Amino acid sequence: MKRREIPGLRLLFLSMVLLLLPAGVVARGVTAEEIAPGIYLRPGIQEEFAPPNHGHIANIGFIVGNQAVAVIDTGSTLNEGLWLRRLIREVTDLPIAYVILTHMHPDHSLGAAAFRQDEPEYIGHKQLSGALASRQSVYLNRMNQILGIMAKGTEMVLPTRTVDVGEVLKLDLGGRGLYLRGYPTAHTNNDLSVYDDKTGTLWLSDLLFVERIPVMDGSLRGWLKIIGELGDRGCVQVAADSAPPLKAEASEGCKTVNRIVPGHGPVVTQWKQALGDQRRYLEIIATGIRKIIKQGGTIPEAVASVGLEERDKWLLFDQFHGRNVTAVFAELEWE
Ligand SMILES: [Zn+2]
Repeated sequence: MKRREIPGLRLLFLSMVLLLLPAGVVARGVTAEEIAPGIYLRPGIQEEFAPPNHGHIANIGFIVGNQAVAVIDTGSTLNEGLWLRRLIREVTDLPIAYVILTHMHPDHSLGAAAFRQDEPEYIGHKQLSGALASRQSVYLNRMNQILGIMAKGTEMVLPTRTVDVGEVLKLDLGGRGLYLRGYPTAHTNNDLSVYDDKTGTLWLSDLLFVERIPVMDGSLRGWLKIIGELGDRGCVQVAADSAPPLKAEASEGCKTVNRIVPGHGPVVTQWKQALGDQRRYLEIIATGIRKIIKQGGTIPEAVASVGLEERDKWLLFDQFHGRNVTAVFAELEWE
């Protein structure tokens, strides 16, 4: 199938057209960029869900191979998913063969129905279906309450193919391979990453937050272990856990990472620094909470005192820090 000749320019043109549209037609700041050859990112707005941003708050995008397209995350609503689909069609006519959902959170997963007409494989972590199904009414009600008419028609789509913890699934888009890895509980209990072997791009989604405060909805200890191993190795494991043990340096089973796409915030090439910032925040709250638990303290005491020195370092700190401390307290209380 023929590809358009200059997708970068076409995107630029589309972005300019979008900027010229009256407010309310598209959320402000919504454009997409080609961050590496064939990898398109629509950066999320660094805010919580609200009508002016249309719920366009997560990083979503797509990867174009010689034969097929893979979508990575679909946005918060059917409308956002349809918008992403139109953008893909501005770039390529190739079939949308895969829709990868990196985890359950609504800002990443609820636009999935927009791609039903393409009959893709919907791919997610083995625990994604259960996680989505148990939160269906809460997530959909919340989207309807906050976004109203903009959330019209939004529904959940469950994965048709899954990746287990420690498993790696390789997808061939033609001329580029994507390695999908399922993780033990970290940001959530259903986190999946995508590594593109053509450009060395690791799409970590919400396993990494940049500039915006990390949100804890899984296991602090699990999350620290994953980002600690990635930082220490300096390469991403593309072999299953059942394969022979990895050496520290880049090899067939552990590939060089040139850039990381976080779930929120800008793409990072100095990614060890970004992992380090997130690690610092998580370790500070872990240390502070363990101390309070040891002294027989309570969750409100922890919320009022732990990690406040991080306030100036993160966007949306006041909206999420207290919740993080509460969640981590409950996890560490019984260790
Ligand atoms: Zn998330």
